[in-house]
Amino acid sequence: DLSPVRRALLSVSDKTGLIELGQALAARGVELLSTGGTAKALRDAGLTVRDVAEVTGFPEMMDGRVKTLHPMVHGGLLALRDNADHVAAMEQHGIAGIDLLVVNLYPFEATVAKGADYDDCIENIDIGGPAMIRAASKNHAFVNVVVDVADYDALLAEMAANDGQTSYAFRQRLAQTAYARTAAYDAAVSNWMADQLALEAPRRRAFAGELKQTLRYGENSHQQAAFYTDGSNRPGVATARQLQGKELSYNNINDTDAAFELVAEFAPENGPACAIIKHANPCGVALGATLSEAYQKAFDCDRTSAFGGIVALNQPLDAETAGKIVEIFTEVVIAPGASDEAIAIFATKKNLRLLLTDGLPDPRQPIVAMKQVAGGLLVQDKDVGHVDLTDLKVVTRKAPTEAQMADLLFAWKVGKHVKSNAIVYVKDGATVGVGAGQMSRLDSANVAAAKAQRMATELGLPESPAKGCAVASDAFFPFADGLLEAAAAGGACVIQPGGSMRDDEVIKAADEAGLAMVFTGMRHFRH
Ligand code: 5GP
Repeated sequence: DLSPVRRALLSVSDKTGLIELGQALAARGVELLSTGGTAKALRDAGLTVRDVAEVTGFPEMMDGRVKTLHPMVHGGLLALRDNADHVAAMEQHGIAGIDLLVVNLYPFEATVAKGADYDDCIENIDIGGPAMIRAASKNHAFVNVVVDVADYDALLAEMAANDGQTSYAFRQRLAQTAYARTAAYDAAVSNWMADQLALEAPRRRAFAGELKQTLRYGENSHQQAAFYTDGSNRPGVATARQLQGKELSYNNINDTDAAFELVAEFAPENGPACAIIKHANPCGVALGATLSEAYQKAFDCDRTSAFGGIVALNQPLDAETAGKIVEIFTEVVIAPGASDEAIAIFATKKNLRLLLTDGLPDPRQPIVAMKQVAGGLLVQDKDVGHVDLTDLKVVTRKAPTEAQMADLLFAWKVGKHVKSNAIVYVKDGATVGVGAGQMSRLDSANVAAAKAQRMATELGLPESPAKGCAVASDAFFPFADGLLEAAAAGGACVIQPGGSMRDDEVIKAADEAGLAMVFTGMRHFRH
């Protein structure tokens, strides 16, 4: 199954490593064919190259839209070398076989990422490149196709090990990689167009994703895993720079995303915010006059759970906050930047992973969320819903005070990022109890109350910090029981969507318990 490499067509936008590859191929006696820019680069390095234009008998034309789209090229890529008819056709038309295709595509994704205009993006959609890649991949029985600079060395090693030839298994792997590239490329184009047209999830129809890194394992050590980027280059965990610490794990990435997306709900211009996450749920979220105060308040909510947590900040990490964070074991810290002093403080904790970004994820950015189910994918618009003060409807006799309104809205935003059923207790811009992921709303209210009670014990408080707190429920109370449980724990005001069949009953119970309650008209399930 070894097949020789006699002729190569090189056509690359990214010229990294091109000269070295060209030299190594030439040294093995491989004939080089190339398109305009690539041919020039090779010639400038003193290599002998034949122009594709000479082979096709046509000049490159239409701003490069048509260069290699020709039977002399595609016949050379697609002909089966062991098929008499194919060989006869090659002879009749003077088509020479191309045994190696090296292509990397017009940088469409990078052009979009740098904010280029519509026409510029369109012009950066490669046509001839993907056509050749798909042709060469289909004919991997004889043809090698390399689409990634990172694979040049592997190609040369394979040829070195086989006297200038390559094995079938090797070509198969190259073809699989190549089809992944054209699939991701077209998906990126489709995604971009969906963005241009502001299409919602059901009308987008394709999804881009490209391998960013392989992970040591998945959620558990017997699961293999990898991290894919969506090509959007948006601020977030997928584009963060890791300054120090061990390699990120699957769970780290999942939790870091949860933390960063939560803290991004709080615009930096409205003051510092901190979220601490464990198992994708917040164990403490707080605002503060300073970043270190926000961290301290978030930490105080549930000191036990915060151990080994993920910390996300909505402002650049400063020295004071860094000093506090290193006092306990933390897995990951993510922030939109860090001061030099803060970085120096972290440097003493070798295992602590520090991720920095150029900004916060945009909580309003309409993107597509996917979940795998047996035999399919569930696709929806990400939950970018939000409510403002003016959306809230007071439904009880008592109305919340201005300070209570602020805490209610804070609790509501936190609740959006807590697994359902979610009940969140908040006092003075900080969570004091979080009930996450229970199968009944009553249980979640109970869990939040128990957490508040433990906070009192941990901090030596004279009473439960839930006394007088604001309560958020991610969905309506189907019965009054959960609401009454929250009131018993100390809740003084409540924010919830409303819309239950028993709203009247729940409102009556709230009035009798002396609660102030507002309806948002919007639900934030998160499963
Ligand atoms: P060069 O720098 O050699 O002039 O151009 C290399 C780029 O052209 C590669 O990214 C390759 O995928 C692309 N390319 C090759 N043939 C064609 C074609 O026929 N049409 C278009 N639009 N791009 C091509």
